[in-house]
Amino acid sequence: MQTKNLIGGEWLEAGNGDRLEVRNPASDAVIASVPSVGAAETRKAIDAAWNARTAWAARTAADRGALIASLGRLMRRDSERLAKLMTLEQGKPLAEARGEVGYAASFLEWAAEEGKRLYGDIVPASAPDKRILVLRQPVGVTAIITPWNFPAAMITRKLGPALAAGCPVVIKPAEDTPLSAIAIGELACEAGIPAGVINILTGDAATISEVIFDDARVRKLSFTGSTGVGRLLMGKASKNLLRLSLELGGHAPFIVFDDADLDKAVPAAVACKFRNAGQTCICANRFYAQAGVHDEFVARFSKAIAELRVGDGSTEGVTVGPLINDEAVAKVEEHVENARSLGGRVPVGGRRARIDGLADRFYEPTLIEGMTPEMMICREETFGPVAPVAKFTDEAEAIEQANASEYGLAAYFFTRDASRLMRVSEALEYGIVGANDGGPSTAQAPFGGVKHSGFGREGGRYAMDEYTEVKYVSWQL
Ligand code: NAP
Repeated sequence: MQTKNLIGGEWLEAGNGDRLEVRNPASDAVIASVPSVGAAETRKAIDAAWNARTAWAARTAADRGALIASLGRLMRRDSERLAKLMTLEQGKPLAEARGEVGYAASFLEWAAEEGKRLYGDIVPASAPDKRILVLRQPVGVTAIITPWNFPAAMITRKLGPALAAGCPVVIKPAEDTPLSAIAIGELACEAGIPAGVINILTGDAATISEVIFDDARVRKLSFTGSTGVGRLLMGKASKNLLRLSLELGGHAPFIVFDDADLDKAVPAAVACKFRNAGQTCICANRFYAQAGVHDEFVARFSKAIAELRVGDGSTEGVTVGPLINDEAVAKVEEHVENARSLGGRVPVGGRRARIDGLADRFYEPTLIEGMTPEMMICREETFGPVAPVAKFTDEAEAIEQANASEYGLAAYFFTRDASRLMRVSEALEYGIVGANDGGPSTAQAPFGGVKHSGFGREGGRYAMDEYTEVKYVSWQL
């Protein structure tokens, strides 16, 4: 297994030999180490991407697509190995890790085809001897910075369309989960993607990004992570007026109307909330149940939550793994205690789950009744396995509460009323709406947020816009 950095087609150590430890969050055991590179290596990676850009952009879309598709195929071939590696460094249950590898590959497969449809336009001119051509060209060297919660998919969701549009990339994965990124780099070499087109750096995020922001050859940053860091990077990106895609935090409402089909709403609520132990940007953060169905929804949701099995993600049958680090567990604890102190009742869970032989990183799947807007859990991302529920009376109140957030990534609601399906879909101020659907993510749909959840879209044809410039040629005959 490769653990070095990929720069200009070579696998390299940090110049000073520094390395960072990678730990298994479930046991806290050190599982590997990766280079801790700095400014010199970052400049080298940008040089490599810069030097690769003209030849990569000059290839046909079909040519690029064949290489991108080949990377997707290799990921599927090695799915089991990649999934085990992901569970080891990130903690999610193996079944979810397998799912993520397939999901990650699907972005490459989609982009490989979509690059062939990167059409321009011919626009009718206003003079008889003129023609107006609109070309779409690659934006250029692209920096990619990704979080730890989806160590493979957050990379390929950017990598696929960037490569398909003709952009070489410099990737900086999260410090907690560099191994999946490096494994993708290894497969990219096997797929035959030319040297310098994909570069992967591990090391101090601020040091690496300073070099990226200082170098005018980098033309685009695609970032997925917290709103706080996104805001910081947006300020720094102003220096060279970088094109930006910011996929930031979320605080998803999940509304259950009186006429909802609970046979569908309850399993969707469980999957949407507890996948990845609640460490998902689009996972439900706030549940709103209408008065007529509230008690039954809470009873059925509580029963399903109590059946979840907490443990090491690599153990068969485990459905909720560890949280990523000690701060994450402390934050969940703080949110639950704060809710309790403000009158919340906790019929299920509500404390750390101690498991013999494993690290103190597990939290019991939890339900809180009586959520109020003052609670931290109702405003801040908890990023843990906790489901707070509030009761509401009518549709207007539900929409008002759902929209009362600085975030605008994903929202969910369940109803059998066809008119309400359209009304509420339109009224929710979110980039993604799951209408009777708790799992909307898919490669062909535009994924992204509004408000403090950022801007830009990933997935489908919309993703190609993020990596292309529109050029207008005014042609005098
Ligand atoms: P984070 O702390 O913002 O980190 C994200 C990435 O930014 C990591 O690679 C991190 O590097 C890097 N970073 C941190 N400080 C930086 C700096 N000063 N300059 C340059 N890069 C810097 O977020 P996280 O804790 O990894 O991820 C969780 C967050 O991501 C949540 O808010 C979640 O909602 C959001 N998220 C959003 C989406 C979406 O599509 N909207 C998807 C997944 C996650 P290090 O790891 O090395 O510090």
